[in-house]
Amino acid sequence: MTGDLAPATPATVTSAAGGTVASWTERYTHALMDTFGPPQRVLVRGDGVWVWDADGRRYLDMLGGIAVNALGHAHPTLTAAISAQLGTLGHVSNFFASPTQIAAAEKLLEVAQAPAGSRVFFTNSGTEALEGALKITRRHSAGARPRLLALEHAFHGRSLGALALTAKAAYREPFEPLASDVEFLPFGDTDALRAAFETDGDKVAALVLEPIQGEAGVHPLPAGYLALARELTTRYGALLVLDEVQTGMGRTGRWFAHQHEHLGGGIVPDVVTVAKGLGGGFPVGAVIAFGPQVAGLLGRGQHGTTFGGNPVAGAAVLATIGVIERDGLLAHVSELGARLRARIAGLGHPLVREVRGEGLLIGVELAAPVAPAVAARALEAGIIVNACTASTLRLAPPYVLTDADAELVVDLLAHLPADPKEL
Ligand SMILES: *Cc1c(COP(=O)(O)O)cnc(C)c1O
Repeated sequence: MTGDLAPATPATVTSAAGGTVASWTERYTHALMDTFGPPQRVLVRGDGVWVWDADGRRYLDMLGGIAVNALGHAHPTLTAAISAQLGTLGHVSNFFASPTQIAAAEKLLEVAQAPAGSRVFFTNSGTEALEGALKITRRHSAGARPRLLALEHAFHGRSLGALALTAKAAYREPFEPLASDVEFLPFGDTDALRAAFETDGDKVAALVLEPIQGEAGVHPLPAGYLALARELTTRYGALLVLDEVQTGMGRTGRWFAHQHEHLGGGIVPDVVTVAKGLGGGFPVGAVIAFGPQVAGLLGRGQHGTTFGGNPVAGAAVLATIGVIERDGLLAHVSELGARLRARIAGLGHPLVREVRGEGLLIGVELAAPVAPAVAARALEAGIIVNACTASTLRLAPPYVLTDADAELVVDLLAHLPADPKEL
């Protein structure tokens, strides 16, 4: 019987072959909810820092799936690790464990420089990692600490818990009431931080921070801010939660942004959330609880997940970290990022007001609110960049980017018109 069946290639069983960008876009608008608006292109294939659309056009991917594709597209080591694990043991319930899950947790604790007694909970996304952190916070506060602090312009995800920590009114207001009341402090303001603890500091359950705000436009916290945050949370018994979903896993040239001397100054956080680059493109996130006391806040039966920490995700995490270590990519990210930022700033282009960031998480602040127009022009020219605010371009390319690749972006920016009206 089986001999009569056609070979089950992806094309024969998925009906997702053929078609143009226009025909796929038309089908998209009937089948997918309109939450993202129409797709900019329909992409069919990737290789390294390049992706191809359904019309066969090639693009330099300077966004990396929003800081996700750390190793680029279709990396052979990652592909082999995921495929081998899927072909060996793809999924088991969390009543069981797998070697890749356990080894991935150990490796994550190692690169996070977490002290003895620290532990990991794997999720499928950054948002779920924040939900885990919020549940840890609830257990820590035990009802006696109703205050939760975050920063203005913060982005922590879109579920009702993570959204409560997200500052943007347009994201929040249609869904209120949210899971928690959160006080938003002005970004980077140490006086406001001190003031928030001076009155009722012992009522604060947690302070949640991105070391570099990503979605807001790549804004690093000023030097000394994280150290003060650690000092105050320790003094008042609150948890310090660092959201490194976007900045973690080597994106800034260190495994975690708070490990940079000028950002974190050697602090040890209580909780770190991670996702985006963690699996190199395979969906996986994690909550890291630092030290035995925080690690014990979620006890048996108090949290769970069906997919989180599955064997394939474990293999993806191990392969991603393994390639970053083997190929010396942290140093490469640091050095290439610094060169690229200097090249862009050095253009002296009237439209480029400021270049921010760390490693390969770069924000290019424009002198006018024309970032979407610049991103559209870049796409036409075959380069994917992201307008994360009206005036900010965000670059978050794969770590395997080369100087020659980066030069294509410099060239694009160099040839922008000086007058924003000409865009
Ligand atoms: C992307 C992001 C999230 C949400 O992660 P998802 O995987 O999209 O759920 C949370 N926090 C930060 C800082 C992020 O950049």
